[in-house]
Amino acid sequence: PEPTLGNPKNTIEILQKYKFVFQKKFGQNFLIDEHVLEKIIQAAGVGPDDFVVEIGPGIGTMTQYLAHAARGVAAVEIDRALIPILKDTLSPYDNVTVINEDILKVDLNQLAEEMNDGRPVKVVANLPYYITTPIIMGLFESHVPVDNITVMVQKEVAERMQAGPGSKDYGALSLAVQYYADPYIVANVPPNCFMPRPNVGSAVIRLQTHVDPPVKVKNEKLMFGIIRASFNQRRKTLQNSVSHDPGLGISKELIAENLEKMGLSATIRGEALSLQQFAEFADLVEEARQ
Ligand code: SAM
Repeated sequence: PEPTLGNPKNTIEILQKYKFVFQKKFGQNFLIDEHVLEKIIQAAGVGPDDFVVEIGPGIGTMTQYLAHAARGVAAVEIDRALIPILKDTLSPYDNVTVINEDILKVDLNQLAEEMNDGRPVKVVANLPYYITTPIIMGLFESHVPVDNITVMVQKEVAERMQAGPGSKDYGALSLAVQYYADPYIVANVPPNCFMPRPNVGSAVIRLQTHVDPPVKVKNEKLMFGIIRASFNQRRKTLQNSVSHDPGLGISKELIAENLEKMGLSATIRGEALSLQQFAEFADLVEEARQ
């Protein structure tokens, strides 16, 4: 069946029918723009073979579009008040499972196994912005089999995910995301496409998971520890910020030696290093420790 939600009139009707009260703490901003919804489905490349995990279905607006396009959908919603609404708005679809849970507590590996025989799923969401980073990093770090993650996020966060060295938006999030995926900003979305309107601009970003990692690193955890330390104090040199991180235990001398081996200045800042260079640096530290 064709979607019926995705416009202000039908959204208001449902909200009034159930006397729904928006919960600020859950980051509830529902989409009311059909073009944006179609664009998200298209960017994710959702087709009849796909199984989609939707995070935070709200009243089921995007869920209707997903159910219409995909083989199956599992939608995880934390707010108990939305469950009876979803039962109603999704009643025309027989390929949707609604799960009333906190997405951060769901074992998505198990879900992909049960629903899609462990084959890669697509993750599509208009995310609750307060937990964007834990959701995305959780998906990557627990190695959930995903083809792509296509999500609405805060505009600034989308820009940070896509940024490269030399950009002011470049940081630990850029490197973490780009280690696992190839980011592409699909569209900027203004506040008037949501009800209620958020106070920030939004963007749809697609993170296409790498089949082969773009860099090989001996110790992933060490590399990300070094990355986080280098961006902790942006204006300090890599040598200062990394050597002062108590958890890492890397001496100034070793850092200087490694930078020299890599042909980099001793006063270079973390923001000037690419993912490849962070991997190389981490490998040199790892080698020195063995
Ligand atoms: N998908 C709907 C739409 O586009 O109209 C709603 C999007 S709204 C920005 C975010 C949704 O995520 C809300 O329905 C909210 O209740 C839900 N949510 C917030 N925190 C959550 C969590 N920890 N786990 C699952 N869902 C959550």
